[in-house]
Formats: sequence, C-alpha cells, structure tokens
Amino acid sequence: MNSESSSAILRMRMVRRDLAGAGIDDERILNAFMKIPREKFVPPGTRLADAYGDYPYPIGFGQTISQPFIVAFMIQMLEIEPGDRILEIGTGSGYQTAILASMGMEVVTLELIPDLIVSAKKAVPAVVPDADIKFINADGYQGWSPAAPYDGIIVSAAPVSIPDELEKQLSPDGGRLVLPSGEWQQRLISVTRDGDNLIMKKSLPVRFVPLVKPCRHWKGKSV
Ligand code: SAH
Repeated sequence: MNSESSSAILRMRMVRRDLAGAGIDDERILNAFMKIPREKFVPPGTRLADAYGDYPYPIGFGQTISQPFIVAFMIQMLEIEPGDRILEIGTGSGYQTAILASMGMEVVTLELIPDLIVSAKKAVPAVVPDADIKFINADGYQGWSPAAPYDGIIVSAAPVSIPDELEKQLSPDGGRLVLPSGEWQQRLISVTRDGDNLIMKKSLPVRFVPLVKPCRHWKGKSV
C-alpha cells in the first residue's frame, strides 16, 4: 500500500473512532479533519501511526501538536460559522490553523516561537491554498487588537487565569473565547460575550503546555 492511501485510511479511522466515536457530531469539523493530512504537521520521519494517534506529539522547542480529539472538541465549543474571524493563540505546528481555514474561517494566528511560525506559514498554505490567514509572531496574552473584534478566540496553551485582553477583543455580539485554564488542574472554559456581560461555562479537565509570559522587553513581529 502506498503511503498516501495508508494516510487516508488512518485519517478515516481517526475521524470515526477518536472524533465521531467520542461525541464530535458537527459534520463540518469531521469533514475538515478528513481533508487535512496531519502527517504534514509533525516532524519529518514521524511514523504515520503517531501522526494519527489520539495524543499530543512533540514538534520541537518543548512544544506539542495537540491531541486531535481536543482540537475538534474546542472547535465545536467555538460554535463558528463560515466567514467568522477567528484569533488562534499558539499556532504550534499549524494543524489547527489549517483545520479552521479549511472550514472557511478568516484566521489570525499568534505564536511566540519564531521558528514555529515560519514553518507553519509554509505548511498551512501547502494544504489549504486559498486560505485567509495572518501569521504573526506575537504574545498571545495581548491578543491582536488591529484585527479585533473576533467572532471566536481559541487558545492552545493554558494561562493560569483568563487574560482580560482576550475578553476585550471578543465581538460584543456573541463572541466566544475557548481556552484551557489553570496550573495543575486545568479545565476547558468557554466565555461568551453579550455586550458587557461575560457568560462562562466550564467543560472537560485537560492537560496543556503553559501559555508562556514573555519577558517585558520582548517585541513580536509579523513574519
Ligand atoms: N494547536 C497547536 C498547539 C501547539 S502547543 C498544534 O496543535 O500544533 C501551544 C503553542 O503555544 C506552542 O507552539 C507555544 O510556543 C505557543 N505559546 C505558548 N505561549 C504563548 C504565548 N504567550 N503567545 C503565543 N504563543 C504561545
């Protein structure tokens, strides 16, 4: 069997067993996971079985590509519609960026580690050529105000508490923030903004890498 067909088989198995079989029922999300080849977002030489395993996997720099089920679950919590503007914090491998873009979202993605944003900037357009994405090397705690407000903000690393700046950059008309929060005991949280009101809901317990606080003098840049 050639590697393209085994990749398609493993991808289908991941979607059926680890996503649909574990409660992801939004067809748009399942279709996006069927389309994006996850092996393009793990280090070269990674076994295909690991590229499609339902667990986080190292991508270098002490970071990991997130577990497929958690990515799907968080996108489902975002309740997004095509054309929505999404701020993604923690680009990492760019896999989730590709999933969001292939669902028709306009994506602004922030990453602290320059090498990761450079490689994601190559990997994502190679699989979603017509995507509307801005890749920015910046600190996620600050969000990205030039493109605010956002219909959705999704954070792929855990702050100890919910950053105020992110709540401010949500659309007042139902914008939704989905993030893991906490130190040892983390939980997924969604915050929905309705004017000046913020409605918070707690969801699954999770384990994410920390959202890092860069030093005071750190200056981000667009790459
Ligand atoms: N969704 C990504 C997750 C990568 S892990 C994937 O599946 O590949 C989390 C990422 O958040 C890491 O790449 C890390 O460098 C980044 N990160 C950590 N603190 C950050 C911060 N303050 N601002 C922006 N990115 C940050």
